Amino acid sequence: MMKKAIQIPLKVESLEAALLRLSKNYVKRPRVEQELGKAKAGYFGEKSIDYYLKDFSSNHFHILHDLRLRIANDNFFQIDILINTPNCLLIIEVKNYVGSLYFDGNFKQLIREKNGVEEGMENPIPQVINQQRKLKKWLNINNLPSLPIIPLVVIANPTTIIKASSDYKEALEMVYLADNLPAKILSIQQTFNTRRKIIHDLDSFSDHLINCHEPKKVDILEQLKVPESAILTGVHCPNCSALPMERKKGSWYCPKCLFESKEAHIPSLKHYYLLLGKTITNQKLRNFLHLPSPYTASRILKSMNLKYTGSTKFRQYELHF
Ligand SMILES: [Zn+2]
Repeated sequence: MMKKAIQIPLKVESLEAALLRLSKNYVKRPRVEQELGKAKAGYFGEKSIDYYLKDFSSNHFHILHDLRLRIANDNFFQIDILINTPNCLLIIEVKNYVGSLYFDGNFKQLIREKNGVEEGMENPIPQVINQQRKLKKWLNINNLPSLPIIPLVVIANPTTIIKASSDYKEALEMVYLADNLPAKILSIQQTFNTRRKIIHDLDSFSDHLINCHEPKKVDILEQLKVPESAILTGVHCPNCSALPMERKKGSWYCPKCLFESKEAHIPSLKHYYLLLGKTITNQKLRNFLHLPSPYTASRILKSMNLKYTGSTKFRQYELHF
């Protein structure tokens, strides 16, 4: 059963917001588009795996997407898909690579050929072995039962060709095309079902892992070295996407298509939240939405029922989406 479903990653939402707020000829736009393409491929690849897991709906089979756990201070590890069963755990690292993949045992390297061009790719095998080691350590630190952890790499794209040199044992054991995942899971289940149960309350076990999940903070502007000054301000028209709308008598008006909206500022505030900060002041709201007065800004902030700290003038409102 699905215990923690996949969600659109903050990185995808932030990159999409950035594209809406960078001018068409901004020099780093292609880089932002490229990053968005990669982030989306990863997301859709991982999402597509749910199709192959849909037949495993039992209460003894918990599927958890995107788990990020803390080993110590700043030391985290992240798992694409974790499957909890009473006798063993499965870690699935999903890659949405296209082309022809070759796992080279000599140098423990992954080489991809696409359109006649060869390139080295991030090798998911050491990655998933590292996650296995860290999860084992994490269970130990948290006084949870120690049970077999099986690492798997799943290639989400069904047309990808996979090859491995015969001496790359881990590649031959761990790497699967998504179509072959159900059969592999069934064989793992057959092996472990005959053994004694190690986790008796699987619900509490999975809930505990979910409670310990700490999502990664995303600061796209910092990551891509895009200055705040490059971000276009104003409210987009929900009808024609033009920027900025004008605030008149409690409504937003589009000077281009004459569309009127009362709620058009909400997506803009989400863009602010994704790109510029989780808190906002009256002054910053006024600048970002192009509001004529502090009173209008105040009214909008009040209507959103946001938590705040600080006294009137320097009050920081917590945005929440
Ligand atoms: Zn418009």
